[in-house]
Amino acid sequence: MVEPRLIEELKGIVGEKNVLTSPEELLCYSYDSTVLQHLPEVVVLPKTTDEVAASVELANREKIPIVPRGAGTNLAGGTIPIQGGIVLSLTRMTQILEIDTVNVVAVVQPGVVTAKLQAEVAKKGLYYPPDPASLKVTTIGGNVGMNAGGPHALKYGVTSDYVMGLEVVLPSGAVIRTGGKAIKNVTGYNLTQLFVGSEGTLGVVTEIILRLIPQPRASGSVLAAFSDLDDAATLVNRILQAGVTPAVIEIMDHLTIQTVDDYLQTGLPRDAAALLLIQVDGVREAVEQELKIVAEMCQDAKATPIEVATTQDEEEALWKARRSISPSLTRVRPNKLGEDISVPREAIPEVIRRIQEISRQRDLPIVIFGHISDGNLHPNILFDQQDPEEVDRVEAAAADIFAASAAVGGTLSGEHGIGLLKKKYLSLDLPAETIEVMRSIKRALDPNNIMNPGKIFPQK
Ligand SMILES: Cc1cc2nc3c(=O)[nH]c(=O)nc-3n(C[C@H](O)[C@H](O)[C@H](O)COP(=O)(O)OP(=O)(O)OC[C@H]3O[C@@H](n4cnc5c(N)ncnc54)[C@H](O)[C@@H]3O)c2cc1C
Repeated sequence: MVEPRLIEELKGIVGEKNVLTSPEELLCYSYDSTVLQHLPEVVVLPKTTDEVAASVELANREKIPIVPRGAGTNLAGGTIPIQGGIVLSLTRMTQILEIDTVNVVAVVQPGVVTAKLQAEVAKKGLYYPPDPASLKVTTIGGNVGMNAGGPHALKYGVTSDYVMGLEVVLPSGAVIRTGGKAIKNVTGYNLTQLFVGSEGTLGVVTEIILRLIPQPRASGSVLAAFSDLDDAATLVNRILQAGVTPAVIEIMDHLTIQTVDDYLQTGLPRDAAALLLIQVDGVREAVEQELKIVAEMCQDAKATPIEVATTQDEEEALWKARRSISPSLTRVRPNKLGEDISVPREAIPEVIRRIQEISRQRDLPIVIFGHISDGNLHPNILFDQQDPEEVDRVEAAAADIFAASAAVGGTLSGEHGIGLLKKKYLSLDLPAETIEVMRSIKRALDPNNIMNPGKIFPQK
């Protein structure tokens, strides 16, 4: 319980106007991008590492739960303050502290919006590739918390591939630094990567050193429709074996194509079993050559129609279908549960067929799309939250999907994390001994279990 005397103490740390307690304000921090909700008792908005450290120290002293929060867009229930307590919003820590063009790194505070960082480094000819679809609103701190990825993961990797060093406030309130600007660093344990993807359960990230790379000079895209799902999946591996590493390869299944076409009415190939969207990037000459190779391989794989885009406007038009998936889904059902299993590439056709079968058995529309080139698929179960019987079937269908992923050697989550939503399925993915090692790390760093409690680990 956050007593009035503690609220006063928090106001002394961050200033009166940066401590929120009205019901309307608390409501705003009670949810994330899932359907889950729980009210915090107080919201604290620090501006500096010292303010974060003092707030965390207070929470630890009083054994009050404290939940780090960026933009609250996570899809795992990761920022739901399930035990009440304090929500610590990092959205006032928005400084890009440095863009170092010699070492090609950026040093940022956690509240920097991902798209803003991309735009600022682009002004210097540099590129920060991790690109969750939500990047216009997400924070770098939240991306680090969830180890966010995006369509460019195949060629460029995910957030963890770019985090070189961190400043972290531990649950005790102590401030530590890990890593640095040196490219090679094997001094001691790799604590930097321990915190990446730890979902705010081990500490609060207050500063991040990020690797950058040069901006690709050109890009081009191909859209190809397939009457057979296996032809599409096989082609992805053929392209990679041919020595072409596209920046992005995305798949949309039959139901996704129909749903998006109903919404956009731009004449997508509605009868196709699968649509592939492939983007290559690099220097202009290489892009032209790789586009030609990819288009020819699509032709050999019996794709029809095949569209090639070489200008920015043409690419925009081609990718509109992919970008329109989310808004188109609400026309089918008001709610959706978006999963993000990740399976070995060769298992993709098998797992898609299994999910289509689950859709039939549970009598629920499930659209399947995602990053086929790295095996990360987004089966989205569409439903109406007002219908309790349908909600029960959604739970069952989600469990079936996780089991299907495990059966083909896949994982529970490729990028969205575990949070509250998937914690009861953790043992499907990880052996008991591995979970126990994770629990002991959590206990060692957070003996009072104040830092985002109730997340990742199932109740014993
Ligand atoms: C429409 C939509 C599309 C999406 N697309 C993608 C996608 O393509 N790829 C993808 O990976 N995700 C995607 N997501 C999920 C989400 O955007 C990501 O998980 C993102 O990284 C969350 O960032 P955030 O700032 O909103 O963090 P939050 O949701 O606020 O927090 C995420 C987690 O990080 C922790 N955290 C936040 N800040 C800190 C900090 N400073 N220190 C320690 N822990 C912290 C939180 O406690 C929480 O556990 C999507 C979400 C939506 C709504």
